[in-house]
Amino acid sequence: MSKSGQSGPGMTLEHLREEIVGIDAEVPILGGEHRRYVFLDNAASTPALRGVLQAVEQFLPWYSGVHRGTGFKSLLSTEVFDAAHDTVGRFVGADLRTNTVIFLKNTTEAINKLANRTRLRRDDLVLTSVMEHHSNDLPWRRHATVHHVGVTHDGRLDLSALQRLLRDHAGRVKIVAIHGASNITGLCAPIHEIAELVHRAGALLFVDAAQLAAHRSIDMLPDDDPGHLDFLALSAHKMYAPFGTGALVGPRAFFEDGEPDVVGGGVVEIVTLEDAVWNRPPQKEEAGSPNVLGGVALAAAVRILRTVGMETIANHEHHLMEYAYGKLLAMRGITLYGPLENLAEKVGVIPFNVTDVHHALTAAIMGTEGGIGVRNGCFCAHPYVKELLGVGPEEDRILTSEVLAGNKSRLPGMVRASLGCYNNETDVDAMVEMLERIVRRDYDGRYVQNTATGAFHAEGFAPDFRAYVPFDEPTTPAESRMASEAS
Ligand code: PMP
Repeated sequence: MSKSGQSGPGMTLEHLREEIVGIDAEVPILGGEHRRYVFLDNAASTPALRGVLQAVEQFLPWYSGVHRGTGFKSLLSTEVFDAAHDTVGRFVGADLRTNTVIFLKNTTEAINKLANRTRLRRDDLVLTSVMEHHSNDLPWRRHATVHHVGVTHDGRLDLSALQRLLRDHAGRVKIVAIHGASNITGLCAPIHEIAELVHRAGALLFVDAAQLAAHRSIDMLPDDDPGHLDFLALSAHKMYAPFGTGALVGPRAFFEDGEPDVVGGGVVEIVTLEDAVWNRPPQKEEAGSPNVLGGVALAAAVRILRTVGMETIANHEHHLMEYAYGKLLAMRGITLYGPLENLAEKVGVIPFNVTDVHHALTAAIMGTEGGIGVRNGCFCAHPYVKELLGVGPEEDRILTSEVLAGNKSRLPGMVRASLGCYNNETDVDAMVEMLERIVRRDYDGRYVQNTATGAFHAEGFAPDFRAYVPFDEPTTPAESRMASEAS
C-alpha cells in the first residue's frame, strides 16, 4: 500500500506529491541548518514514485531471469517483462501489431542502436537540428552525413529550412531525428507536422522523447497516417522510474531485417559453429540478460502517469510555468532564454542567468544556501546554448582552447530549473526568493571556483554524505598489500 493508499486506480494529481520518494527530505545548508529539499532538476532525472518502488518490491520475491528458465518464477518474470514492453508501446500510441518495443539502458543507447541499425552509408543524409541533445546528434555523425536544421529568429525549429533540405537532397535523406521537447528551452517540436514533411520526402522520422514522455501524451499514430512517428525513444529515469531502463519503439519489420548491432546470448534462436539464426524483435535487439526490474519499474510509472492523466499533468505543469514566468519576468537582473509567448508549448524547463553572476555560482548558491537542486552549464547541447548566449566564433575558439588547456572557469552556460508533475507553487516561490537574494548579492558564503571543473563551492560547506547513505568499504587485501609496500 502506498503512503497515501493512492498509487492504484484512484491516484490523482493532488496525491502525486506525497507519492514522490524523498519529497520531505531535509538537506544541510550553509551555516548548519537544514531545509526541505526543493528539487528543480527534473529534466535531468526525476525522483522515483512510491508506486514504482512498490511495484519493484512486489515483484522482487518473484524475480528471476527471463525467456530461458523453465521454473515458475522464470515463467512469471517473462510474462511480466514482456507485458511491460506492451505497456510502454500503448503509452506512446504504437500499433503493437506492427511495431516493437525494445528495452535498452536509456535514450542514448536507444538512439545509438537506431543509428547502428539504420544501415546508413557515409553519404546518406541524416537531418537533425542545432537544438538536439548530443545523444541525438553524435550517434548519427558516426554513420552518415549530418545536417543541422537551424532555429528561426523567434527560437523555433526552422521548418522552412527543414523543407528546403528535404527538397534539395531528395532521396539522400534517410532519417530525420528531432527532439520531442528541447532540454534547453522546453519547447515542444511540432512532431506530427514534421512527420508529414519527412514522409512526403520519402524519409523516416525519429523522435527523441526523453523530455516529452513524462509531460505530454504521445501518440505515434497509425502506421499509414502521414503524421505517424516512425521511431521514438524515451528514458525511465526521467519518468519517475530510475531503475536503468529506456525504450526504443519502431517498426518490427525494420528490426527483423539485418543483424542486431550487439550480439551474444538472447538475440539468437539457434547457433551452430558456423551460423546464428536471429531471434524475433525485441529479443533480437536486447542482447544479454535484460534489466527486468527496470522494465517492471518503467511499466509501473507509465500506469501511474496514465491513471493521473497526461492531460491533467500537462495542465498542471502549464499552470506552474505561468506562475513561475509571471514572477521571473517581473524581476530585474534575470535573463530568460528561449521563446516565451506561449508557455503551453513548453514542458517545464526554465533556462536563465542572473546578470553578471557566473551560471555555476548561481547554481552553487541555490544548492548551498537555498537547498534547491538545479543544473548549470551547456546541458549536452553546446552549440545551441552558445548560440542562445551569443557566443561568437572567435570567443568560442578562445574558450575552447582554455577548456582544452584544463581551465573551465569561463565556460559559458546557463542555469536550468525544470519542473516535474509533483512540483508546486511553493517550490517556485523558494526558487524566486533565492534568486532575488542572488540578484541583491545577499548571500552568505564565500565561493571559490575550481578552475578544472568550473564548479563553485562555499568555503566551510562540507556535508557528511556518509551520514545519509553509508558507502564505506573495508580495505581490500590488495590495498593493504599496496599500503605496506609503500611504507
Ligand atoms: N535527449 C534529450 C532531449 C535529453 O534531455 C536527454 C537527457 N538529458 C537525452 C536525450 C539523453 O537521455 P539519457 O541520458 O537518459 O540517455
